[in-house]
Amino acid sequence: MENCPFCKIVNRRLPADIVYENDRVLVFRDIHPAAPVHLLVVPKIHIQTLSDCTGVHAGLLGEMMALIPSLADQQRIGVVGSTAETRVGGYRIIINTGPDGGQEVYHLHIHLIGGPRPWKYKN
Ligand code: AMP
Ligand code: ZN
Repeated sequence: MENCPFCKIVNRRLPADIVYENDRVLVFRDIHPAAPVHLLVVPKIHIQTLSDCTGVHAGLLGEMMALIPSLADQQRIGVVGSTAETRVGGYRIIINTGPDGGQEVYHLHIHLIGGPRPWKYKN
C-alpha cells in the first residue's frame, strides 16, 4: 500500500530496527517503546485490521502468534521458572483494532511488550 508506513518498512523504503524476518512476517522495534522491549510483529501483506481477518488468515495469524515465544526468548523477556517462587520475566501482546481499540497504524500488527518494570504502558 502506497502510504502505509509498515508496508514501506517491509519494502525497505523506510528504515526500521528489524529483529526477525521470514517470507511472510517482519518484526521490528517500535519507535516509541512503551517498555524496555517493544516489538511489532507484522504480516508482509497489507491487512488493515484484525477485523479484516477470516479463516483464510488463520495460518498467518497462527504463525505470527507462534513466533512470540522465540522472539521473547531472543529478547531475554521470556518466562523462566515453573513455580510462583522462582518464576521471572514475561510480556504482554496487544492487537489494537479500530478507532475504539486505539489503532493508529492501519496495517495489522501485534505489539510484544516486556522487560523489567516500570513500563510506560498502562498497568
Ligand atoms: P497502534 O496504536 O497499535 O496502531 O500502534 C502503532 C505503533 O506503531 C505505535 O506504537 C508507534 O510508536 C509505532 N510506529 C509508528 N510508526 C513507526 C515506525 N516508522 N517504526 C516503528 N514503529 C512505528
Ligand atoms: Zn501496509
